[in-house]
Amino acid sequence: MALKYKRILLKLSGESLMGNDPFGINRETIKETVQQIKEVSDLGVEVAIVVGGGNIFRGVSAQAGDMDRATADYMGMLATVMNALALKEALESMGATARVQSALSMQQIAEMYVRPKAIQYLEEGKIVIFAAGTGNPFFTTDTAAALRGAEMACDVMLKATNVDGIYTADPKKDPNAMRYQSVTFNEAIEKNLKVMDATAFTLCRERDLPIVVFGISKTGALKRVVLGEDEGTLVHN
Ligand code: UDP
Repeated sequence: MALKYKRILLKLSGESLMGNDPFGINRETIKETVQQIKEVSDLGVEVAIVVGGGNIFRGVSAQAGDMDRATADYMGMLATVMNALALKEALESMGATARVQSALSMQQIAEMYVRPKAIQYLEEGKIVIFAAGTGNPFFTTDTAAALRGAEMACDVMLKATNVDGIYTADPKKDPNAMRYQSVTFNEAIEKNLKVMDATAFTLCRERDLPIVVFGISKTGALKRVVLGEDEGTLVHN
């Protein structure tokens, strides 16, 4: 099978691990997600993952409750480490080899982020999970995904969301909403389409890192994306 993308950066939001639960990690959901990741890894795709933490803790909401923003953001980053460890376990229980590299030092449970080491793992066919976002407050894991995607020289950043692409209107509210197959970065700005936060979006655009927004809850969606089939929405220069 011809692969469209040889090395991918998959951004999984914390919420995509939550299933229909109100918070935390849903066993069935993480299993289904991990099956899809293993499937593309077995095809020979090099997989790097950045995982969010919104299913456990989100800095912005804590700030609204009077907490210092930087402290809240560090707590958010710790939440991403929990998700990364859960993902690693789930991947390994399926027979894949995975490594967690954290942007914050916590040597007992995860390696530190070291760029050449991460690249080496990818070349060896190991799945690399990047935890703790960028390691800095006031950023998001989308920005971490853009950053690591650029550093790893990935062919594409795949943003897994609850909706299976970018639509002309909110498909939950408007039955006539249409999915875009592809848009340029400029069109996304002109049409005011919400792809990612501005920092992440700008970084991808400047590094010429295309983005595919797709829905990972659809069986086989990740495989269809890496094979270049009509799935999700491609954002490109
Ligand atoms: N966070 C941060 N710096 C980063 C990445 C994440 O401070 O580089 C914090 C921030 O508080 C954020 C939380 O970690 O709210 C969880 O990340 P995010 O909201 O991006 O997760 P997702 O929405 O993808 O689940």
